[in-house]
This record gives sequence, C-alpha cells and structure tokens, in this order.
Amino acid sequence: MKINVAQLRKSEGSTERFQFSEIPTPIEMGKEKLVFQTPLNVQIDLINTGKSLLVNGQANTIIAVNCSRCLKEFPYNLDFKFEDEWIPAEHSSLDEEGTALIFEKDEFSIDERILEHLLLQLPMRFICSPDCKGLCSKCGVDRNNTECDCTSVDIDPRMERLSKWNKGV
Ligand SMILES: [Zn+2]
Ligand SMILES: [Zn+2]
Repeated sequence: MKINVAQLRKSEGSTERFQFSEIPTPIEMGKEKLVFQTPLNVQIDLINTGKSLLVNGQANTIIAVNCSRCLKEFPYNLDFKFEDEWIPAEHSSLDEEGTALIFEKDEFSIDERILEHLLLQLPMRFICSPDCKGLCSKCGVDRNNTECDCTSVDIDPRMERLSKWNKGV
C-alpha cells in the first residue's frame, strides 16, 4: 500500500482520501500466525496542515485465530480507527526523529504502520466465545461438544487451600 501525496502537498488545507483492499501476507507472532481470511480494507483521509499530513484512518478485516481455551480456530473480526501524523523529512527536527513518522519522498508505503495499529487491537488471548468451556483438564475433550465423566470441579485455589486445611492436610 503506497500513497502518493504530491498533489496533496501542493496546497495547505487540502485533503485527499485513499482506499485499499488487499490480503496481507500472514503475520508471524511467536508461535502463532495471523492469517487473513478476508482482505484488509483500509480507508485513510489525509489533511495537509502545512507542516505535516494528518491521517484519519479506518480499517477492517477478519483473521483466523485459535481460541486459547478450546484451541479451535475461529474468525476474529477487526474493525478499528487510527490517527497518525506524517512529517516530511525536510520539516522534521532532530528530536522528532525516532518518534515521529517521517516520509522522504512524495510516494511512501504505509503498510507497516497500519499493521502496527492492527497488532495493537489484538487482545492478549483470543477466546471464541465468553462462555467457551474449554478443554477438560483431565481427559482433554472439548467440553463445548462433549460431556465427560471426569469429576473436574473447578476449585478456586484459595478455597482448595481452605479445604485441605479443614481436612488437616
Ligand atoms: Zn473456545
Ligand atoms: Zn474429561
């Protein structure tokens, strides 16, 4: 995804909209891999403030992830907004380098930045549904589909200590 801002930069105060729709290559995240099931749709509006380009963006896509309780793969919907400010290299001061987004030519790539925003949207753990029962810790069946005979009562660790104490363990 490259944008060309040559036209936009000609007049302060002008705006321009860019739209993209493409399936990014899967993103490696440690052991996990984020696979895009639908195109990543991106729409960004840029405003030329004179000193910089302000970005108002929105993006949506569906990625395939695995539930951390039952391990099943399920589609995860992402729909988010983001804001950025791009500064042309000739206007950036030294102290901005490192934190600010700087572009050097009128045409530049924004993929990396959008993927950064996307990663920030992801939860620590994916859970297929709030009431996913997960796998049985004893026999391993998916307790959403199968009832097992294991008497695995989920005991609050604090209560467990208490029951041991009651038994004099
Ligand atoms: Zn699940
Ligand atoms: Zn079981």
